[in-house]
Amino acid sequence: MTSPSPADAARQRMPLPLLQGQKALVTGASSGIGRATAVELGQAGADVVVNYVAGREAAEDVVREIESFGVRAYAHEADVSREDQVVAMFARMVEEFGTVDVLVANAGLQRDAAAAEMTLDQWNKVLDVNLTGQFLCAREAVREFDRRGVVPEVSRAAGKIICMSSVHQIIPWSGHLNYAASKGGVLMLMQTLAQECAPRGIRVNAVAPGAIRTPINTSAWDTPEAEAELLKLIPYRRVGDPPDIATAVTLLASDLMDYVVGTTLYVDGGMTLFPGFATGG
Ligand code: NAD
Repeated sequence: MTSPSPADAARQRMPLPLLQGQKALVTGASSGIGRATAVELGQAGADVVVNYVAGREAAEDVVREIESFGVRAYAHEADVSREDQVVAMFARMVEEFGTVDVLVANAGLQRDAAAAEMTLDQWNKVLDVNLTGQFLCAREAVREFDRRGVVPEVSRAAGKIICMSSVHQIIPWSGHLNYAASKGGVLMLMQTLAQECAPRGIRVNAVAPGAIRTPINTSAWDTPEAEAELLKLIPYRRVGDPPDIATAVTLLASDLMDYVVGTTLYVDGGMTLFPGFATGG
């Protein structure tokens, strides 16, 4: 058996009952960042809805892992870009868990192509899931937060939304026009929603990952050559792992961060420090 890394050991030591009694929904939670986030929210004491769009088995695995912390969880299949399915997903959550305290709008995908080759289907699919999906989920969450209001024994806020963005909300990315445009949109969605809803006790923030080892970007790190190229873009010289993002989301969702409103937390090993300028310019 290998011993845990210092980061894993620190995570296991963290008491983190930070979200005791809260109800969280994570979209796209059967893999990658969403999976790690759903598990860590459960470890922090939240009951969790594990949304997935395909692959029930993987989602049920996540549910079992979350339940091992003594909290409740269930898997719910829904396409976040479909209004009827999103509305039904939130209605069931209110029925089963009583309310929604935390939304992690994480589901996302890529359909890469050079701009001149990009089809309208590729463009629409990425905008539908990455941007419209976040709008639809955030709207349902806000409606429930407004209905319930603040319950001081649960949280100082009426509700928390964490939008999964990307460093590409500000870094242009050739060959990924649809994806970069969707994440740029997420930045303004997050800020506008935060401005509009903060007076009602709703905190909206974003996490912007850099390069994280997940199925979405396997080709960027799965050979030593690819990883070496990628590391040139990361001043901290480490590719991130899903728990790096999960911990940032958990803290943002908790009352420890109660005064953080409308902010993007970049979790990127310094990728947004424009490392190309370390020697050039
Ligand atoms: P991933 O492919 O493992 O996760 C994306 C999840 O979204 C998958 O489980 C997928 O099934 C789900 N999904 C796709 N379409 C959906 C839909 N219509 N409805 C519901 N779920 C749907 O990759 P990941 O890296 O874990 O990505 C999670 C989020 O993190 C995405 O929003 C992505 O843009 C963002 N992100 C990832 C990285 C990275 O380096 N991995 C960097 C920046 C941002």
